[in-house]
Amino acid sequence: MRLEDRVAIITGAGRGIGRAIAEGYAREGARVAVADLDAATAEDAAAAIRAAGGEAIAVTMDVTNEEAVDDGVQRVIDTWGRLDIAVANAGVQHIEALDKLSLAEWRKVTAVHLDGAFLLTRAALRRMYQGGGGTLLYMGSVHSMEASPLKAPYVAAKHGLLGLCRAVAKEGAEHGVRSHIICPGFVRTPLVEKQIPEQARELGLSEEEVVRNVMLKNTVDGEFTTVEDISRLAVDLAAFPSAALTGQSVIVSHGWHMG
Ligand code: NAD
Repeated sequence: MRLEDRVAIITGAGRGIGRAIAEGYAREGARVAVADLDAATAEDAAAAIRAAGGEAIAVTMDVTNEEAVDDGVQRVIDTWGRLDIAVANAGVQHIEALDKLSLAEWRKVTAVHLDGAFLLTRAALRRMYQGGGGTLLYMGSVHSMEASPLKAPYVAAKHGLLGLCRAVAKEGAEHGVRSHIICPGFVRTPLVEKQIPEQARELGLSEEEVVRNVMLKNTVDGEFTTVEDISRLAVDLAAFPSAALTGQSVIVSHGWHMG
């Protein structure tokens, strides 16, 4: 097992990509904190990991709430005495043209991605600097590298995470902290299922056309990336043994974007 004795917290892990990462880490021997805004899905994901023989707790927290994130990370440290891996994965999407977008929606999307990643980073680093190091992973996107219409706050926030990841790699190095950003193409989770009809409406296309001609148009094979693909990569990045690999963005998108 490649992550034995490690302790990890993953935000937005009640479902989708985050849940698959939590399950993948647990299979590799890590003790995992499943953090999510939604208490029921976090409990469910943690229970499933325990039922499969792993070690997991559920931590209910809103990543945009400073006190909640500090308390949540502290609970993980109180439970297992350490923190080795933190994955800033929680995210939301909002489909709307820029000229119609309200400041409130802009702030909602950017806060979950950017404020949320910052708060997790700060809480994790405070512990990792005492404990001899660790790994921070950020859930970026192909939208950390390029833009699509109707997703301005998401695109801006995902580009911002690239900068945060690189800043952590520079500052964290002397404390043994490494960081990476995973940049998936489209993965068929609830976040994507919700935007298929929304994009169809905004673009005047059928849902099938949105999938084929918008989402997967530039892939090499017309395939969705899967949660298992992302989970496997998150294990590899967390298990890599040295700072030869730090500050990197890894694009997992069936060739949609080649960085
Ligand atoms: P999802 O909607 O299935 O899951 C997101 C999870 O985040 C949910 O469990 C939700 O409750 C949680 N969450 C939302 N706001 C939160 C908050 N304020 N505090 C704590 N938890 C919160 O989405 P997903 O597709 O699994 O996305 C996970 C990450 O991957 C996101 O950052 C997303 O931007 C990114 N991503 C997804 C895709 C894709 O195609 N699905 C592609 C690239 C990047």
